[in-house]
Amino acid sequence: LPEQEAFDIEYWLLEEAKLQRLPKPRPLVGRVALVTGGAGGIGQAIARRLLAEGACVVLLDIDQGALDAVTAELSKAHGRDPVRGVHCDVTREASVVAAFQRAVLEYGGVDILVSNAGIASAASIEDTSLELWNLNQSVLATGYFLVGREAFRLMKAQGRGGSIVMIASKNGMLASPQASAYCAAKAAEIQLSRSFALEGAPLGIRSNVVNPDAVIRGSKIWTGKWSAERAAANKISEQDLEAFYRDRSLLKRSVFPEDIAEAVYFFAAEQLSAKSTGNILNVDAGHLAAFTR
Ligand code: NAD
Repeated sequence: LPEQEAFDIEYWLLEEAKLQRLPKPRPLVGRVALVTGGAGGIGQAIARRLLAEGACVVLLDIDQGALDAVTAELSKAHGRDPVRGVHCDVTREASVVAAFQRAVLEYGGVDILVSNAGIASAASIEDTSLELWNLNQSVLATGYFLVGREAFRLMKAQGRGGSIVMIASKNGMLASPQASAYCAAKAAEIQLSRSFALEGAPLGIRSNVVNPDAVIRGSKIWTGKWSAERAAANKISEQDLEAFYRDRSLLKRSVFPEDIAEAVYFFAAEQLSAKSTGNILNVDAGHLAAFTR
């Protein structure tokens, strides 16, 4: 169909559904999404959102216990058919290739990649050992490259385009105390996404970034040294961190995993974001827009 006509029909169907109180059309029906770090706080919220819009979701995670628990919980809510949990270490090429093969075996392909698996480690530049530096680069920059490349190859072979969404961080744009290795790796993810956008465009493969501000509730990253360091740097207690980030934002609102999931859904759905690639969406309640303090 010519583009405008297809758009008009889609709009009409939505309006009709509203009038007749038909169930809302789910734009991701028939799509397969792969979410790395799917057993983590943000990953499981993303999985939930994509499942709600009709996608089949393959969760990848290195933490087998958490993966089993989250897969079981999501299967309970959405039925067993659209959810799979696959153990994967995103730093290992063979593990990434095997995980994609499993997704193809289970669902016949992959249309949406959400690269989200992550770690965070607090250390000053002087205290950042080569091991700590390499760990950050391997999980974040290299991990995002390996899963991105595998998705790219598969989407190209499928010949029906696709959407890659990289969960980077506001720390890919701004330096943060005691986080040089993390900040550098997050900046690499942002630039990587632009390269995917460039090479993917002729193939209908879009690549975009979602940058969360601090998402404290549910996140395993916000435990131990990372939390303690951020609290100490701002001269507050760890319990006050959520309020601190909320009050610092322009909108005075906290960012939750569900907010990140909504932004991912926007980039995942062709119907919503067909014209967006190489973009960055900051989900930060306005924090990056202005100096407040
Ligand atoms: P989380 O710790 O709750 O989840 C991260 C998941 O990644 C975990 O389940 C972990 O097991 C998995 N993982 C770690 N190493 C892996 C590996 N080698 N292979 C496969 N899986 C691996 O953290 P989260 O807050 O949900 O973070 C998700 C993403 O969002 C990360 O990339 C993080 O950097 C980014 N982010 C988080 C925040 C925040 O404040 N929470 C802010 C900005 C960006």
